[in-house]
Amino acid sequence: MTLPALHASWLSSVLDSLPGPEPRSGCGACPMVGAPSEDTVFAFPADARCCTTIPAIPNVLVGAALRDPAGPAVESLRARISDPRACTPLGVEPPPGLPAAFRDPLTGYARARAPRCPHQQADLTCGIHDTRPAACATWFCRPADGLGGHRFWRAAFAFLHLLEETAARTVALRLLDPAAAEALFPVPGVRPAERPDVWGRWADDKEGYFRACADEADRLGPAALLAAAGPLGAHRAVQLRAAAASRGVSLPARITTGDVRRRSFGPSDVVFGYSPHDGLELPGPLVDAISTVCDGRPTADARAALALAGHAVDDGLLLALIERGVLVEAPAR
Ligand code: SF4
Repeated sequence: MTLPALHASWLSSVLDSLPGPEPRSGCGACPMVGAPSEDTVFAFPADARCCTTIPAIPNVLVGAALRDPAGPAVESLRARISDPRACTPLGVEPPPGLPAAFRDPLTGYARARAPRCPHQQADLTCGIHDTRPAACATWFCRPADGLGGHRFWRAAFAFLHLLEETAARTVALRLLDPAAAEALFPVPGVRPAERPDVWGRWADDKEGYFRACADEADRLGPAALLAAAGPLGAHRAVQLRAAAASRGVSLPARITTGDVRRRSFGPSDVVFGYSPHDGLELPGPLVDAISTVCDGRPTADARAALALAGHAVDDGLLLALIERGVLVEAPAR
């Protein structure tokens, strides 16, 4: 996992260190193709894996990708730039006809019978890996520490996506001439006097415009961008730091069940909490006992009650259940 340089610089401005690798979500040997199996409830399509969305890409990253004219995804980006329904000075958008579920960065990934991202290469690698949008850069099927990682990456997405949008607006307003800026951001409710032209002097050089956006973003720098993001940017930074500080898995003093779902596979159940991609196969009676016993009581008492019911549960299993959000810390009574 390598974060795009822009995202890495933005994260570095608010975190003590960048997040480590995510080996459980390794694309080189995708753990999700070939499922359903003992630890997931549906398979990713083998010919697309999780890249079943057509992501929006902000202008600053479109331009960064276009800096290398021989880049593997330049042609697919050019096709999107040439579609006036899906390209504005703010970046490229999913095509208008794409169903809403595939437009949403939280739900669009890893769906069967879904569109395949135009930037995915024949070997299933990402053609814009070093400049992919935050929606892609923060999506992992199985974060290293399960629920903690999931929460961290969702917070990272919220932070980075806000900065992407802020950067896109900021550099667009710096580069567009006043008439084009007015067409892009008209006064609400006021019909423009003439047919709006959102490109202005860049109409015949959209690729040059996008490259200029990338250059502007580099000049802007993380501190100025975060200031431009205002109070919400500061709030997202606080949320991100909190999520980073709470990563990891440990046994809590008290334990209760989380948002648990289960699916039967023969004599076993797959239980999963934070994600259907990251389950755990367990005997059905053990799942029943855990659901009954883990009710907010001290963890040691829950383990003793499970042993009395004939289920020896060691730390490793408890930690695996906590990692998946099947069990969570309970408040003190
Ligand atoms: S941009 Fe890259 S990571 Fe994102 S969906 Fe497309 S191929 Fe996958």
